[in-house]
Amino acid sequence: MFTLNRPYRIAIFCGSSLGVDPSYRHAVEQVATVLSAQQITIVYGGATVGLMGVLADTALAVGGNVIGVIPKFLSAIEIAHQRLSECHIVESMHDRKTLMAELADAFILLPGGAGSLEEFFEIYTWAQLHLHKKPCGILNINNYYDPIIHFLNQTVVQGFMSQQNRDMIFVENAIDNLLAAFATYTPCAAPKWITAVKTSET
Ligand code: AMP
Repeated sequence: MFTLNRPYRIAIFCGSSLGVDPSYRHAVEQVATVLSAQQITIVYGGATVGLMGVLADTALAVGGNVIGVIPKFLSAIEIAHQRLSECHIVESMHDRKTLMAELADAFILLPGGAGSLEEFFEIYTWAQLHLHKKPCGILNINNYYDPIIHFLNQTVVQGFMSQQNRDMIFVENAIDNLLAAFATYTPCAAPKWITAVKTSET
């Protein structure tokens, strides 16, 4: 059994598309249900489209708490969700990421495209630099992210990232395991550049 301090908020980055396989949608429904059952608030991009919409609709349907953060210019294209527990309309994509980062205690990447990847990896690099000390995890539904995980391991093998920094991203196939991993998270003792300097001196 694990414990996360309450209230706990998790920012979820996921696709503005549904993906071709219905199992993505089903897995996102399960994530929303599990988080809501544990009184964990979902922070997400505030849209109704794709897996983002599935996430919010499912959580709201089971009584969960959902906070959306959407830039003004996207609120028409992605169709801003009208029934959220809380919705923040912000000026820019940068404002969206900044506010999501401030509101959340942890970050999860679900299947998505370049937007989801960009948002998650920026947050992860902020963790490396100690700009925050919050856990980041990939929920590897259907092994969708296997190529990215392989690539992350490759960055260590080829000397572009330390194992310690690689290990700051948890990778799990089940949401319960990811939450349990978050409960154990202790940030790296030193930010990336201190570690890197030490490595080059040894
Ligand atoms: P996608 O994973 O590409 O379907 O996008 C998921 C979310 O990321 C959507 O809300 C997009 O608006 C958002 N997004 C797309 N491109 C970017 C970007 N360059 N920076 C931040 N967010 C983005």
